Amino acid sequence: PYNSKYNRYPDPHQKELKQAIAQLKNIQPDQLFLGNGSDEAIDLLIRAFCIPGKDNIVIPQPTYGMYSVSADTNDVEVKTCLLTTDFDIDLDAVQKTWNSNSKILFLCSPNNPSGNSLSTGKIQALLNEFPGIVVVDEAYIDFTGTKGCIPWLGDFDNLVILQTLSKAWGLAGIRLGMCIANPFIISILDKIKPPYNINTITQEVAAESIQKKSLKEEWVREIISERVSLETALKKLKLTQHVYPSDANFLLVKVKEEKKIYEELVKTGIIVRDRSNVILCDDCIRITIGTKKENKTLLEALEKL
Ligand SMILES: *Cc1c(COP(=O)(O)O)cnc(C)c1O
Repeated sequence: PYNSKYNRYPDPHQKELKQAIAQLKNIQPDQLFLGNGSDEAIDLLIRAFCIPGKDNIVIPQPTYGMYSVSADTNDVEVKTCLLTTDFDIDLDAVQKTWNSNSKILFLCSPNNPSGNSLSTGKIQALLNEFPGIVVVDEAYIDFTGTKGCIPWLGDFDNLVILQTLSKAWGLAGIRLGMCIANPFIISILDKIKPPYNINTITQEVAAESIQKKSLKEEWVREIISERVSLETALKKLKLTQHVYPSDANFLLVKVKEEKKIYEELVKTGIIVRDRSNVILCDDCIRITIGTKKENKTLLEALEKL
C-alpha cells in the first residue's frame, strides 16, 4: 500500500501512451499494439498466425534476423528467397516461394542490413497477391522522410506495419515497439500478449519523449546530413569497392580485405558490423552513422588503413 511511485501495476492497455502515438502517426488507438520492442510484436505475430510444425513464414533475404529466430523458437518453418542484387523485391522469386501454408510474409523497408527502401509498387503487388499477412518492418522509416505504408491501411486488411522507438528516437533501452494494423488483428495480439508487457517507466519515458519530437527531428536531420558526407568520403577511399544507397541511419559498404579492416577498427575502439557472412553481402561491413566527431574518428582510422 505504500506509495513508492511504482507500487502499482502498469496500465495493461497503455491508454494514454497509445493516444499520444495514435495522434503522432495519424491513426486510431485501436489500430495500434505496443510491444516490448518490435521484437515482441514479431514473436506474437508468428504465434498468432502460424500453427507450429505446419505453417511457414516467407522472408526475402538478406534482412533482419529476428523473423527467423522467432519462427525457429516457435517451430514455424522459414521459407526464404533472395532480394535482387540491389536489394529490392524480386516478385517472381517471392511468388515461387509461398505455398498454401504460408501465413506471414516479412518485408523490411528500409531494409536492414542494406539500407535501401523497397519499391512501394512491389510491396503493394505483394499485399494484393500474398494469401496471408504482409508485415512491413519500418524500424528506419523516420530516416526516409516518407510516411511509409500507414496511408495504405484502409486499402489492405492484411497489412501489418512495425515501427519502433529504438532507432530515430534513440530509445532502444526502454523497449517500445509499435505494431500498426486493422483493429481485428490488433485485438488478437492484445489477447495473447503478457498483460503487463509495457512497464510503467517505459510508458512514462515514451510519452515524455514523444512530446519532444522536435529533438528527434533534429537528430534525424543531423544523421542524414552526416550519412551523406560519410558516403562521399567513403567513396574516395582506396579500400572502398561500393557504398550501397541508404535511406536508413547506416551504410552497407563493400570493401577490400573486409576481415582485416574490421579487426583493425576494433583495435582502435570502433565497432562496425561485419556482414560478410550474409547472403549477397560478400566483403561488406555495415557502419552505423554516429556523431560528427565519431564519424571523423572512423574516417581517420580508415584513411590510415
Ligand atoms: C532494430 C530493428 C528492430 C528491433 O526493434 P526493437 O523495437 O528494438 O525490438 C526491428 N526491425 C528492424 C529491421 C531493426 O533493425
